[in-house]
Amino acid sequence: MNKKLSVSKFGGTSLADFDAMLRSANIVAKDPATRVVVASATSGTTNALVNLSRNNIDATEKESIIDGLRDKHYKILDKLADPETLKPRLLDLLDNLKRIAVHSGQKITQEHRDSILSHGELISTLILTRILNELGVEAVWKDAREVMKTDSAWGNAEPDIDLIRNKVQTHWSPLIENQVIVTQGFIGSDSDGKTTTLGRGGSDYSAALFAEAIEANELKIWTDVPAIYTTDPRMVPDAKPITEISFAEAAELATFGGKILHPATLLPAVRKNIPVYIGSSFEPERTGTWVVSKATTDPLVRALTVRRKQTLLTIQSMNMFHRHGFLARLFSILARYKISVDLVTTSEVSVSLTLDNIEYTTGNATLPLEMLDELREFCSIQIEQDLSLVAIIGNRMQHSKGLSGALFSGLSDHNIRLVCHGASTHNLCFLVSEDEATEVARRIHKIFLSDPEHSLAEPQNEIHHT
Ligand code: ADP
Ligand code: ASP
Ligand code: MG
Repeated sequence: MNKKLSVSKFGGTSLADFDAMLRSANIVAKDPATRVVVASATSGTTNALVNLSRNNIDATEKESIIDGLRDKHYKILDKLADPETLKPRLLDLLDNLKRIAVHSGQKITQEHRDSILSHGELISTLILTRILNELGVEAVWKDAREVMKTDSAWGNAEPDIDLIRNKVQTHWSPLIENQVIVTQGFIGSDSDGKTTTLGRGGSDYSAALFAEAIEANELKIWTDVPAIYTTDPRMVPDAKPITEISFAEAAELATFGGKILHPATLLPAVRKNIPVYIGSSFEPERTGTWVVSKATTDPLVRALTVRRKQTLLTIQSMNMFHRHGFLARLFSILARYKISVDLVTTSEVSVSLTLDNIEYTTGNATLPLEMLDELREFCSIQIEQDLSLVAIIGNRMQHSKGLSGALFSGLSDHNIRLVCHGASTHNLCFLVSEDEATEVARRIHKIFLSDPEHSLAEPQNEIHHT
């Protein structure tokens, strides 16, 4: 097939109700290049399923969550030309959910949780396929688990790139000449066929993996904002849309908490140089953002992100003084407990580390006690929580005069904890307390991104090399 081939992904708010689904379906119907459609669960559904997976709620509460999901999706179905033929399939999925979450009577494990969570995407894609069919599109529903092969790391599974490519090329490529494949983001299956998930927000990553596997020319991510902005527009009303951004900058933005993209989304795009478009399914005609290998502009500061719920672990030991092997021992313990470290700073006798939302990695709001005991055998520990990681994202950050001066003088009345500058040309990061984060973000945005009078607020359309 020599024609242009596009993969489109729709997030939860783009599928929230019948009107949103219809708007999304119309985007697909109007673009003959779109041959694969990847959908999230309808908005709020994955959160409801997360609640359903909790072990500390009783059967009545669980049944009422499932009834809520039935009513919410019936409301969408009832607007279809022929709702009755789809209702039995929805009820089958809800019965299955009841069987896993309520009637099995057993403790819900991480493995069960992934099965439960997968139902959001399984349901939304059934309805979206039908809406596309009613618009005259030859859309076919496909179970993503047949091709999205992963390891068995429940909740955060690792995709097997080669296997996914083989499966997609065998099972999907022959179909796309005549049909539009509608499939689920976020979900996959391990080598035993058990359901896995790619982590919250993982549908973006699924879509990028499918785009890579099917050798798409572009990936379009349709969401509820018209573009990637200089920062989350909900947090900083002054934020401005970015029309073009490089893979490297967008990857930093995704990694450091720009919720707009799952952190791994750009890995497949970079591997295969697939341009990624971000646009609003609510206003598809507005100009969105193109994420490309090399942007035509490379401003010093492009964007800023805030990642909340960070933990700072400070480890102190006189044994560190002029010793080798200390950091290796520390990191091997953290690795054994699957704790992923983001930022690190060290002094002669102490090391500070930031850990992303530990609740997500450990399933618990606190660090594992056994791990802390192991660490205490050779050092003292201080844990600080309720912190936010602020990242300034741009280009040539290692070599820019005036950047840190402007930053620190602009934030002179805020307490800045742990600064990381110099490891990457694309970011400068630091921690502030959670309750100051929004104010700090607004100030930094004003200094570097809104105020054209400021010497460091370079216009986005100017290439500026040192
Ligand atoms: P979807 O359900 O479509 O995947 P998400 O809620 O995951 O959508 O991501 C879109 C949200 O990301 C926006 O509503 C916005 O609040 C947030 N966001 C965070 N950072 C940015 C940014 N830099 N630009 C635009 N939106 C951002
Ligand atoms: N439905 C999943 C979530 O809410 C995946 C996604 O939306 O990308 O996390
Ligand atoms: Mg998302």
